[in-house]
Amino acid sequence: MRNTARQTRENRTLTIDFQNEATYFQLRGDGKAFLECILAFVMSLGFQLKHKATCSGGGCLTRHSHYARVRLGGVTIWRIQCTTCKAVCTILPHFVLRYRQMRPEVARDALLATHGGLSLELCAVLYHISPIALYRLLCAFGHHSLVTVLTRCGLPLPTYFLADEKHSRCLTNKVYLPTIVCGRVLWHLGYTEAASTATFTQSYREFQQAALQQEPLYRVRGILTDGFDSTTSSMRTLFPGARLGNCLRHAINKLPGKLVAIASPGRKALRSQCHTLLYRARQRKGLRAFALGQRLRHFADRVTQSAGEANGERVRRWFQEKTAGWYVVLAAPQMPVTSTLLDQAHNAIERKLFAMKGFHHSTGSHQAFLTGLAHLYNLIPYQRRAIHAGQCGVEVEGGRVPTADWFLNLQILTSGGFR
Ligand SMILES: [Zn+2]
Repeated sequence: MRNTARQTRENRTLTIDFQNEATYFQLRGDGKAFLECILAFVMSLGFQLKHKATCSGGGCLTRHSHYARVRLGGVTIWRIQCTTCKAVCTILPHFVLRYRQMRPEVARDALLATHGGLSLELCAVLYHISPIALYRLLCAFGHHSLVTVLTRCGLPLPTYFLADEKHSRCLTNKVYLPTIVCGRVLWHLGYTEAASTATFTQSYREFQQAALQQEPLYRVRGILTDGFDSTTSSMRTLFPGARLGNCLRHAINKLPGKLVAIASPGRKALRSQCHTLLYRARQRKGLRAFALGQRLRHFADRVTQSAGEANGERVRRWFQEKTAGWYVVLAAPQMPVTSTLLDQAHNAIERKLFAMKGFHHSTGSHQAFLTGLAHLYNLIPYQRRAIHAGQCGVEVEGGRVPTADWFLNLQILTSGGFR
């Protein structure tokens, strides 16, 4: 008898790559070969099937039941069952999308165009689907956490990362996208309607909890921020042991703004001197905080000489605020030096959000939608030429992906039936 009060049903769907449709239809008639094929594929991925909590997974699998998907022209979908714990997994062949009529080829092309910056509406026209179907598809992928997908690719949880928020707009409201980036990979892309420490902490905590679920002893060593108060406070709250650094490139870009009422050539000259100072500081490995502080004091004196007392004082106070954060960056070699990669990720996401203003409705699932976009950012190969040609962000960072097809990878990696 079935449990009458069933809890939220576990998603035990598995997407299996049968290479081509004919193989699937051929195997359909042969239960033993079918199971062997599935097991071989799962083993090649190095994943474990999601059994029930009490099951060690050592039991046998049997073919359980099947049903025909009417909307897919009657494709037979099989389930497999663990003989020990009775957990049932639904096997989706690679050419079927979960709960969707859309063919994977269509979804692949439409999502690639979306990722490339085309609006949902235009993608929908091009691929003969409705914009809302495309939106829902992205949200469906976005219900799977970035941390789960990335660790399934064998990427270690980031011990040094960049954290910052994108300030964006949803219709007329200001919104914020708290983001964590490590190299070319997005680990977190949140959504908040306020810029307070509390809301940012709540958003970043989702990442932290997902990470701790993967690795209970997960520790962050260093975080680079742009020094925005709510960000640094939320990072201190969540990762008390981590050192917080400030982006060096931001420092150089911000300096001219501190120099008021002086001629442009003078401002430029000071900017370039500051650049040289920080660049040389980076070259020197054994630099001490004292040495950096001394150099910055000299620099502030020079500002006083050439741009007046008020400017010198402003720069001096600014240095006092920031020196600790710069020193963290200079002292730890693994620490990211600039937030450039995070800015690039933000710009990529912003282009898509800008193209999709029509979908910022109040009942929309902003968080799932953004996470879906983040999956695309991580998994779509992003360069044709150059050093990382044909690789996606995950591969550039040293991760493995199951197949050569990014969309199939997205299907497989977001399958709920793997542990
Ligand atoms: Zn089991």
